[in-house]
Amino acid sequence: MPATLFGREMPQRGAIECGASNERGYLTAIIQLRLRRAEELRLSTAVAQLLMKPKDFLPVFILIPVMALGAGSSSVAEEEVLRAGLIPRPAQVRVGDGTFEIGSKTRVIGRGAAAGEAAKLAESLSIVLGRPIRVSSGPANEGDIELVLVQANSSASVEGYQLIVDRTGAKIRAATSAGLFYAGITLRQLVWPGTRDPAEESEAHVKEAFIRTMEITDFPRFSWRGLLVDPARHFLPFEFLKKMVDLMALHKLNTLQIHLTDDQGWRFEVKKYPRLTEVGSRRAESPRRGAPNTGDGIPYGPFFYTQTQMRELVDYARSRHVTIVPEIEMPGHFLAALAAYPEFSCTGGPFNVRTRWGVHSDILCAGNDAAVEFARNVLAEVIEVFPSEFIHIGGDEAPRERWKACARCQARIRKEGLKNEAQLQTWFNSQIEQFLTSHGRRLIGWDEILEGGLTPGAAVMSWRGTKGGIAAAEASHDVVMSPTSHCYFDYAQGKGPLEPESIGGFIPLAKVYGFEPVPSELPADRHRHVLGVQGNLWGEFMWTPQDVEYFAFPRAVALAEVAWSPAQSRNYSDFIGRLERHLKRLDRLNVNYRKPDQNDRSGQIQ
Ligand SMILES: [Zn+2]
Repeated sequence: MPATLFGREMPQRGAIECGASNERGYLTAIIQLRLRRAEELRLSTAVAQLLMKPKDFLPVFILIPVMALGAGSSSVAEEEVLRAGLIPRPAQVRVGDGTFEIGSKTRVIGRGAAAGEAAKLAESLSIVLGRPIRVSSGPANEGDIELVLVQANSSASVEGYQLIVDRTGAKIRAATSAGLFYAGITLRQLVWPGTRDPAEESEAHVKEAFIRTMEITDFPRFSWRGLLVDPARHFLPFEFLKKMVDLMALHKLNTLQIHLTDDQGWRFEVKKYPRLTEVGSRRAESPRRGAPNTGDGIPYGPFFYTQTQMRELVDYARSRHVTIVPEIEMPGHFLAALAAYPEFSCTGGPFNVRTRWGVHSDILCAGNDAAVEFARNVLAEVIEVFPSEFIHIGGDEAPRERWKACARCQARIRKEGLKNEAQLQTWFNSQIEQFLTSHGRRLIGWDEILEGGLTPGAAVMSWRGTKGGIAAAEASHDVVMSPTSHCYFDYAQGKGPLEPESIGGFIPLAKVYGFEPVPSELPADRHRHVLGVQGNLWGEFMWTPQDVEYFAFPRAVALAEVAWSPAQSRNYSDFIGRLERHLKRLDRLNVNYRKPDQNDRSGQIQ
């Protein structure tokens, strides 16, 4: 029977592949996949049922027009994914035996809400091809690349897409502009870099713009695909944040957490409290390279981002479908704020912005109403600038010794009927959470926020292993997995004598790639609470953007695949093969990545 794929008549041939030996097996696999996706996406039952409706998924997923592409086979698909260095690996690829050329007449077509993404794709293709690619909102002709937004219930995911390349052109279908964008990233990877040896290409442009006919159906496994950067320890130039956003988008990573404040520096302009940056954004000296327990004697700062800059970054990131999540640490890691406003501490100070790494004892006084109000007022400006659903309040490594000795903190504990200082931190968190919730935001913090009982609605970033994440998910809280065992990208990634100074530890590329964000001990009905994963680039031993790039890549590439690709498709040797080609992209983007060595290629993790 003829099948219709998004309104297009397709001859059908029965070849159905996805690891199932027959159509029934395929159907079952798709239904399971869709149920799982619906669960992961926390779709309502009604929406999930819609996704199940045969008339929906049959045309989209079952009657894939193999004929139009020529004979598809998984080995050809494997080869093509490998050849093009597609990263992260798409959920499903089927390859035909024809080619499509992005020729001189090729335009990118996008009508209505798809126009914006069409323009972005045209621009990025123009850059890699070294010639202008026109954009149009008119009807598509043969040879064009067409982007179309479809109803949400005909896509496997809010960020998913389908990319169909046949001899007459390329068609991209997605339910959201993010899906269109990610299809564009994939399309660009298919032509860039070209198949020639880069040495033969005199410049960065691709000489050949031929794409194999293929169909890609793709969607992310997790909705939170994050990296953290830490300009509090070593300030990162504003322009570098944009480069990080670009690099994240290239890998379909979508959440950049910026650690804006810590004991060693306050980097966010707060208009109500100008001393936060006047005083808090500078320190007398920094730990010395190679001898972090001694000072370098060099005054550092003032370094901070203005609200105008952060708004610009938010817009820049939004157009690349990256969400900026600000992190404002409280009540601990708060010394830079207390240096500016010592009245919000337990002892009254005075304090200096910290000049060594590590954890400091002086924290915000949770017994002082004015101090709690101060925290709220700071966050009021933060949420004005950052529209993210989640606001990260840190919450980690807050020593409670000052609270133990503080009359006001002890009075608060008695008045609120709290058992101890851990519960005082929970009380403080709940004050902050109420404030954020009343402004339509959600609180997320490091897993210490679990210790005195988690405030309802709060989400947890699990860093001390996955235990905190499991506990939180079992209690129906959302979690992001970011354990020191796999996701701390400030740890060393090699053991050779040329490796740069690092905070310690050892997390090679293969270890990151092997990370499974959903712990096996977590009951199935709690899996949906695992929002995703994040790699953290703590800045103590990253003095420059080049250092950040070195620690980030290629581990962030491996993380991108953990976060995006289906768990069952992950295969390290396949990844290493694709990575080789992908690194050429990073070369051309001037990324100071660490070159994988023999240990990385063999998958060594010890
Ligand atoms: Zn106190």
